[in-house]
Order: sequence, then structure tokens, then C-alpha cells
Amino acid sequence: MAQIIDGKAIAAKVRQEVSQAVTSLRERGIQVGLHVVLVGDDPASHVYVRNKERASAEVGIRGITHRLPADTTESDLLTLLASLNRDPEVDGVLVQLPVPPHIDTNRVTDAQDPARDVDGFHPVNLGMLVSDRPGLRACTPAGCMRLIDETGTDLKGKRAVVVGRSLIVGKPMAHLLLQRHATVTICHSRTQDLPTRIAEADVLIAAIGRANLVRGEWIKPGAVVIDVGMNRNDAGKLTGDVDYEGAFDRASFITPVPGGVGPMTIAYLMRNTVLAACARRGLPDPF
Ligand code: NDP
Repeated sequence: MAQIIDGKAIAAKVRQEVSQAVTSLRERGIQVGLHVVLVGDDPASHVYVRNKERASAEVGIRGITHRLPADTTESDLLTLLASLNRDPEVDGVLVQLPVPPHIDTNRVTDAQDPARDVDGFHPVNLGMLVSDRPGLRACTPAGCMRLIDETGTDLKGKRAVVVGRSLIVGKPMAHLLLQRHATVTICHSRTQDLPTRIAEADVLIAAIGRANLVRGEWIKPGAVVIDVGMNRNDAGKLTGDVDYEGAFDRASFITPVPGGVGPMTIAYLMRNTVLAACARRGLPDPF
């Protein structure tokens, strides 16, 4: 039987650490500021942005949301980003994705200042990760690493399997694991014999977006299972990519969905904002 990795409790601990760092910066006259840009009326995006506003307020970060109409032109959006890049009071900027289809996502990402790119999606930050150099790391993979660390697992030499190769989860996750000396396999939709690859995993990260795709009987006994997936079933219930009940009997540690990776993503966004505020001013990492 697995031990449950309590993402809610660990995220609360991260927010507490962030809150302390924000307070000490304020004592030095620095008010940390996070700007979120939301284009259009996507209901899920509005919920995510409200959660970010709430999290900012809770840790003492000044959160400012720019809500723009769905017909905002790409050029107007790029102009706003350019002005945020120049504003000395802006520590972090993120554009809530997806943007409407008439706007090119890559152009938006590229227009951000890498030093303020708290999502860690800018090619400079991704390149710094691959080069093992300091930079802002994508929030979800960074949060997953913290969850693994909280289990006390030493990753050195372990077999880690990441299912999913997106730029926001799978690929950065694999590089973070590699940095910690795990032997990493990346799987995707064209991978042959996924069950065998998964059965090799001492640490499994599922970032697929297919409810219960990973069967419990595929899990190596004693594995650490991190389920990034967020899928709604027909009844509207949130489920992960891993068959939780089946995996629970075999894993040593497992994240629930909800209450696992989800809360960590937003906590690490707050943490990244503080890291960006410090790095931009030449201050040491407060964590
Ligand atoms: P993407 O759709 O960008 O990537 C999904 C990946 O899964 C792709 O690499 C795809 O392969 C792979 N894949 C799809 N089907 C299969 C299959 N049958 N077998 C093996 N691999 C498969 O998704 P994201 O990375 O953005 O997100 C993944 C999941 O994580 C989603 O459920 C998302 O909602 C969730 N998520 C959760 C977050 C959180 O905070 N908890 C944050 C971000 C995401 P290929 O590349 O070949 O198409």
C-alpha cells in the first residue's frame, strides 16, 4: 500500500516559504509584483487566473491582471508585453494560455523578458535548463520535483519514466530528473510497449491527459508515482492519468488527483515570482 503524497499540505509549506521571502523583501523596500495577462473569455482560463490572484494575495505578492477582450490584436498584446518588460515594478509576467487562435503563441512567448518569464516557457529559460544553468523552471515540473524530494527518494541512478513530451511538462520534467542523475526514459503517443517501459520505472511521471491510461498492474512494486494528469470524466469528476486504486496497491508513494500536483503548480508560480524578483536585482536565492 502506498503512502499518499499530500500535495495540498506541501504546497501550503511552499507558500509559507514564499510568504516569508516576500516579507523580507518588503522590509528591504521591495514589493514583489506579478502581472497576469488574460485574453478572451475562456471560462477555465478565468478560473485559473482567479486562483493565481488569490494565491498572490495570500503570499503578499502584488498581483495585477490585465483582462483583454477576445479580439485583442497580436500587435496590441505584444505592445503590452513590451511595456511590462520595461516596468521596474514588474517582477513576473505570464500570459494565460491558450490565447485566441488569431494570436501566435510562440510570438507571445518569445516577446517576454526571460528574466520575468515566471512560467519558464521562454526558449532562453528552456535552453538554460537543458544547459544545466540557472534560470526560471516551468512550475509544474519544478513542483513535481519537490513532491519527489518530500518522499526522501534519492534519484541518483534510479530509472525515471516520463510519459508525455510537452514543452510545459514532459520535456522540462525529464531534464530536471536528468540533472539529478536519474536515468530517464521519455514516452509519448508513438512509444511501443508502454506497459513494459512503465514497469521499469522507479519513479513514474504521467503527464498525458488521458484518464486512467496507466493501469495499476503496470506499476513496478515500490515505485514513486506522480500523476500530473487532470481529466474530467463524464460526471465532471477530476481524475488523473493513472488508475489510482490499482496503482495504490503497488506504489510506495503516489499523488492523488485532485490534491497532488495541481496545488504545487500555483505554489511554484509564486516561488518563481520571488526568484525572478531576487535574480533581477542581483539578490541571492532566498530559498
Ligand atoms: P499535451 O497534450 O501537450 O501532451 C500530452 C503528451 O502525452 C504528449 O506528449 C503525447 O504524445 C502524450 N500522449 C498522448 N496520448 C498518449 C498515449 N496513448 N500514450 C503515451 N503518450 C501519450 O499535455 P500537457 O503536457 O500540457 O498536459 C498533460 C496533462 O497534464 C493534462 O491532463 C493536463 O491537464 C495536465 N496538466 C496538469 C497541470 C497541473 O498543474 N496539475 C499543469 C499542466 C498540465 P505526443 O507528443 O506523441 O502527442
